[in-house]
Amino acid sequence: MITKSNHKPNKGFSFGLWESHGAAIVTSFCLLFIVLAYLARINDYTFVEIILFLFAYIVGGYQKAVEGISTLFKEKDLDVDLLMVIAAIGAAAIGYWMDGAILIFIFSLSGTLEGYTMERTNKDIRSILDLRPEKAVLLRNGKQVEVKAEELKKGDTILIKPGERIAADGIITQGYSAIYQATITGESVPVDKTVNDEVFSGTVNGYGGIEVKVTKQAEETMLSKIIHLVQEAKNEKPPNQLFVEKFESIYAKIVVITAIILMIAPPFIIHWSWKETIYRAMIFLVVASPCALVSSIMPAILSAISNASRKRVLFKGGAHLENIAGVKAVIFDKTGTLTYGEPVVQDIISFENYSEMELLKTTASIEALSEHPIAKSIVQHALNKNIELEHSINLRSFKGMGVQGTLNGISYKVGKRDMLNNIVLTKEQEDLALKLEQQGRTIIFVSNGHNLIGMVSIFDQVRLEARRVIEELKNMNIRVALLTGDNERTAKNIGESTGIEEIYSGLLPEDKVDFIKKMTAKYGKVAMVGDGVNDAPALAAASVGIAMGAAGTDIAIETADVILMADDIERIPFAISLGKRTNRIIKQNVIFAIGVALTLITLNFIGGIINLPEGVIGHEGSTVLVILSGLRLLR
Ligand code: AMP
Repeated sequence: MITKSNHKPNKGFSFGLWESHGAAIVTSFCLLFIVLAYLARINDYTFVEIILFLFAYIVGGYQKAVEGISTLFKEKDLDVDLLMVIAAIGAAAIGYWMDGAILIFIFSLSGTLEGYTMERTNKDIRSILDLRPEKAVLLRNGKQVEVKAEELKKGDTILIKPGERIAADGIITQGYSAIYQATITGESVPVDKTVNDEVFSGTVNGYGGIEVKVTKQAEETMLSKIIHLVQEAKNEKPPNQLFVEKFESIYAKIVVITAIILMIAPPFIIHWSWKETIYRAMIFLVVASPCALVSSIMPAILSAISNASRKRVLFKGGAHLENIAGVKAVIFDKTGTLTYGEPVVQDIISFENYSEMELLKTTASIEALSEHPIAKSIVQHALNKNIELEHSINLRSFKGMGVQGTLNGISYKVGKRDMLNNIVLTKEQEDLALKLEQQGRTIIFVSNGHNLIGMVSIFDQVRLEARRVIEELKNMNIRVALLTGDNERTAKNIGESTGIEEIYSGLLPEDKVDFIKKMTAKYGKVAMVGDGVNDAPALAAASVGIAMGAAGTDIAIETADVILMADDIERIPFAISLGKRTNRIIKQNVIFAIGVALTLITLNFIGGIINLPEGVIGHEGSTVLVILSGLRLLR
């Protein structure tokens, strides 16, 4: 395979600025020797001229020659570097010292430029690394001890003074403050936090001193995860890049064989002189090398990924950019995705001989052990009313349905209507439930196994931007659908307030997966947007899984391909457009790269009208142009 060291996409973080500066110095010296050699030539100092050219060759080409030879012997691969050096030496051998030197200079120059441009795409990503706090103040037996952030363990208590960066994910145990979370969520307005609130590593403490109990080891923190994801994204090659690389290895062999034929055949067939033949073969070697083609994809992908990450959209790899560009339908989960995912208890309606307070106490005591957001909101509501919860036993959770538990010898069921089994509602109860559901509320039914003892209505506010986002997607000719485990009427109400017509309600997690599969069969690529544990299988089944980063559960974030760090669904149309732009630029690049190569090959052989420096400028120029074109995606 032909590889060109600076084009190697997965150099990642190693291509430092000093490396670019070093390359720039080498290139300048190469140019200096060429100029001096030229001066020697016009003054007829032939010997000095050759010596100076030799210097230019060695200074500009040494590194490339070493790299090329090591690739040849170690990886048994042909390397563009080596081809260029051979072409330059070939040119010198037939007396074209100047042409060969210019080849080396321009090749070195374009390598330097590429280095600087790749450096730019890496900068954004490195800026995330810089956010990692290095030190923390640990509270040990009431004393403050300074330790390294990575030494913190779960259960440690750390002190964060005003203005300091928080060194670990944890829970506030003392104090209150405003926390700037822009690093994690992109939200620039600080969030007020106090005892029992969660704080994240890398975020900045505002005015108050707080004590935080560490809940996650350094490598498990949200920030580490983000950094890890971005690093992974840089190293994962998308399918079109892999294709180009495969194509390239065949192509390289063809170029070499053709060059050899071109070095031998023309004198016999079209009566070129040997000098002319070798010169043309050298030009061919240069212009037919696939540098531009190789550089068509990765710089574009990396630029798009860093652009997205600046807007708090994390792509886990280049392949997802390609996929999201082709998405025909976007499917939203309801809770936490289209809504804020912070359900609030609205009405408490008790039946039989339960009072409202008794009903709330019973329901909250059963829900106390459930992790579901609805359960948490009911418990919170009870605590707000100073209700003391009782200890329930035999808790059983029915995924996507509700929970069951025993309290004072009675087995209660709490959840959606299906949990009632064959309990029949009175006409009055039916009407009331219908009315509340039409207002977009979710009703939690509570039964003692024989009778309905109450209903708790829950409301989860629809995100303010939801309607606008749906409209934007529709304008992009993308179908939009809503999936939810909630009941039909509540779902319809949400559909109406957001403008989604395609609504599928009452779904269990496995139904969601089936549904995604059906949609994929029908429309082609589909994206699923979700946040919960329940959504993870659907996120995995979709062509592109998009997870809510801040509100999302760890499993959703891990399963998804794209993460909206700030939970802003507004970035979905942006991500799709970015994917489309990336694909378009890659396509343009590939066509341009192949076009330039074909033109130069034709001009060289049919026309015989370009010289080596022109061939090199055309070839390297097109390489630099496709890289610059890819960098447009940074904007
Ligand atoms: P999910 O798919 O998790 O959103 O759940 C779908 C529906 O099941 C919810 O809208 C509730 O009606 C019900 N549900 C699930 N878990 C619970 C719970 N712990 N308490 C009450 N209702 C629940």
